[in-house]
Amino acid sequence: MADMKELANLVKELEDQLVTCIRCGMCQSVCPLFEQTRKEADVARGKLALLTGLMENMFTDPDGVNERLNRCLLCGSCAANCPSGVNVVEIFIKARAILAEYKGLSPAKKLIFRQLLAHPGRFDAMVDWAGRFQGLFAKPDANAQGTSCARLVSPLLSNRHFMPLSSNPFHKTLPEKGVTTPGSGPKAAIFIGCLIDKIFPGVAHASLKVLSHHNVGVVIPPGQGCCGIPSLASGDRDSFTRLVDHNLALFEKYDFDVLVTACATCTSTIKKLWPSVYKNPSPGMQKKLTALSEKTMDINQFLVDQVGIEPIETGLEDAEKEIVTYHDPCHLKKSLGVADQPRQVIRAAGCRLEEMAGSDKCCGMGGSFNVYHYDLSSAIGTLKEHNIEATGCTAVSTGCPACMMQISDMLGKAGASIRVRHPMELYARALEKLTP
Ligand code: SF4
Ligand code: SF4
Repeated sequence: MADMKELANLVKELEDQLVTCIRCGMCQSVCPLFEQTRKEADVARGKLALLTGLMENMFTDPDGVNERLNRCLLCGSCAANCPSGVNVVEIFIKARAILAEYKGLSPAKKLIFRQLLAHPGRFDAMVDWAGRFQGLFAKPDANAQGTSCARLVSPLLSNRHFMPLSSNPFHKTLPEKGVTTPGSGPKAAIFIGCLIDKIFPGVAHASLKVLSHHNVGVVIPPGQGCCGIPSLASGDRDSFTRLVDHNLALFEKYDFDVLVTACATCTSTIKKLWPSVYKNPSPGMQKKLTALSEKTMDINQFLVDQVGIEPIETGLEDAEKEIVTYHDPCHLKKSLGVADQPRQVIRAAGCRLEEMAGSDKCCGMGGSFNVYHYDLSSAIGTLKEHNIEATGCTAVSTGCPACMMQISDMLGKAGASIRVRHPMELYARALEKLTP
């Protein structure tokens, strides 16, 4: 159990943020969870009301509070539509931390977050091992998305179409000392992120190719860990803080102008949560976290706003171009206001962009929400799948690997022949066609 004085300080911090909610209910109309359940307890206003009496409720019914708080995608749709500017996601994350510190983590979460995830070398080895044996419990489904299904009836995997672990994760292809390439423009350090490293390494290779094509100097430190969001979403600030320390120490060794990531969730976590939820930062550490946050950017935004991406001449008429639709990741559009730049990259890659209805509606992934509430997550994801199919596209693009997983699952289950691609993959593919 946490130090009670520290807990009281956290609660006070939270209470100060909670008073900004005026209970107007504007968040109701945009909450993807409320759209499914129609329960006031599921919408931001209901959860914030619950948190107003947190200290009291925490002692009387900590499990009940925890359960209600965890029924949330942390998508930020409520915050993006809030007239009072309530920082809902940060409030929910701090509240989860308070509860986890009061109740303690379950043994399974302690093992996963503190013994594995918080130790990048150990975590890489464990995922590597799991990848070698995944064929025992998963069978590939020959579909456009490249997903697999469970071989045997499994309550955890259910009827999911999941993306398999890569046999060649990105970190294994890095030279021992990482990558340091010269360039004529701004120097970019790349934060890889777990999902890109272990499931979508092609996105990292494509990013590198696109940056090199534009003469961007690149730095990729080896030994990178997770950005910490899975720990934080479960309230574990200790392992989150350990991961921030680990990553910060790696990047501090290099000189760069901008930290880019191709993962919307990592970008949003580094920019918004590293400086605000790190546990007990010293003034020096706070300064470093703020400085890194200020120079962290989504890779599409960096290429469009700072580098100036060149459209690739394909020689195709508009009607001949591949039709691609784009899904706005919540962590990119609602959290960081990045929406136009990935679209520009897709067009520059020689694709015809066909907008879907509700392109910025959450896909329903929500990290651990998908694990604990798969029925709700699927119902939200199915709406997205219908909107994607209605465009007549052959590929859907999005800037977040977690969204890529959820959309692949939904399209795979529907038997759709639509591929799922990151904007960097589309652009890198177009570059390949240019190569004589
Ligand atoms: S979180 Fe914002 S939108 Fe929702 S009830 Fe409070 S003030 Fe209104
Ligand atoms: S973060 Fe998303 S799911 Fe959670 S309350 Fe807000 S809108 Fe609803």
